[in-house]
Amino acid sequence: MAETVIRPTRGVIDLAAIGHNVARLGGNDGAQVCAVVKADGYGHGAVEVAHAAVAAGATWLAVALVEEAIPLRAAGIDVPILLLSEPPVLAVGAVCEYDVTPFVYSSGFVAALQAEAVRRDRTVLVHVKLDTGMGRVGVPVGQVNELLAQLRDCDRLEVDGVGTHLARADETSADGVAETKRQLTVFSSLLAELAHSGLEPRFVHAANTAAALRYDQARRLRMPGVDTTTLLRCGIGLYGLSPSVDVPALANGLQPALAVYSAVSYVKKIAGGTPVSYGHRWRAPADGWLATVPIGYADGLPRALTNRAQVMINGRRLPLVGTVTMDQVLVWCADVPVSVDDPVILIGPADDGWPLQVEDWAEQADTITYEIASQLTARLPRTYVRPAGHQDEPLR
Ligand SMILES: *Cc1c(COP(=O)(O)O)cnc(C)c1O
Repeated sequence: MAETVIRPTRGVIDLAAIGHNVARLGGNDGAQVCAVVKADGYGHGAVEVAHAAVAAGATWLAVALVEEAIPLRAAGIDVPILLLSEPPVLAVGAVCEYDVTPFVYSSGFVAALQAEAVRRDRTVLVHVKLDTGMGRVGVPVGQVNELLAQLRDCDRLEVDGVGTHLARADETSADGVAETKRQLTVFSSLLAELAHSGLEPRFVHAANTAAALRYDQARRLRMPGVDTTTLLRCGIGLYGLSPSVDVPALANGLQPALAVYSAVSYVKKIAGGTPVSYGHRWRAPADGWLATVPIGYADGLPRALTNRAQVMINGRRLPLVGTVTMDQVLVWCADVPVSVDDPVILIGPADDGWPLQVEDWAEQADTITYEIASQLTARLPRTYVRPAGHQDEPLR
């Protein structure tokens, strides 16, 4: 991001909403929130979100890449950080250096991590990832005993947790529900088997946001005779966004954290029939006012929103018209003019709730909230609204 911000366009992140969502997802059944802050906190800013989530009671953080843990540690965050997939073998040094707890599932990585732990003369905690049906990463159920046998021989590695990942927890269709229940049942019986074989992890986990909201079974995983805590690996819900159309955030008591604001940069009157923007993909239906707003696809506003999204100016809901360009979009104001510098809401709250949502962009651009949020670019400045009573950290 440019150091100097002059353009009025910005993302505003409400950290109180992050705190609210941690409490909502965590509930009061003893499950703990592992706040997923991969991809720069789903575009919201990983360090700021992590501070807010931990302050609100999240006991773990999770990232997708080892390098995503580095800024968190540099910011003084000392809660355990789960690495959601094995990194390349050459990252074992960084895993130790930044005290990251990796999911493990392949013998080559386990051997390399054991060797690094020996070299450093320390113990490294790992979580075993089981593939119960996601089909992406994770040790297949039939091969878990082999991996556990190897881990038993690794005197410097300690199995601190066991987890799996659900493929269809965000679907309310009969198929989606049946598959999620099947995965949870397979995982639960595996946990029971592992308990019998003497494994004593401290943490077990299967839930993403959708499962934390919808599947009690994913919130109460048990290993008979072992004192485990269930973690909920929540990402999208932490930001108050919907995992899917089937599982809407607002109706589930989550609060959106992200707003996107700008201001009108130019206004002119055009004649009916005038074509606008690249490719002339829109023409004015009548004489009226056309406003320019300085935000574009280089900020993360999808080009697929061409002729599809709406914005709010002066309390009016107005359509984006013409092709979305790299740096600017156009708004049709019809016969009521707006003025340069009038505030524009692209995503955000108004008097009556959240009229403009990331969910709308996702639907209109034929994608999901995850992609919209994580594709906000570095050029869009982020500012943070802190909960009342928050004391700023001393500058270091
Ligand atoms: C990204 C991710 C999550 C978080 O999922 P949400 O749907 O955003 O809550 C959880 N677990 C794993 C393995 C992930 O990759």
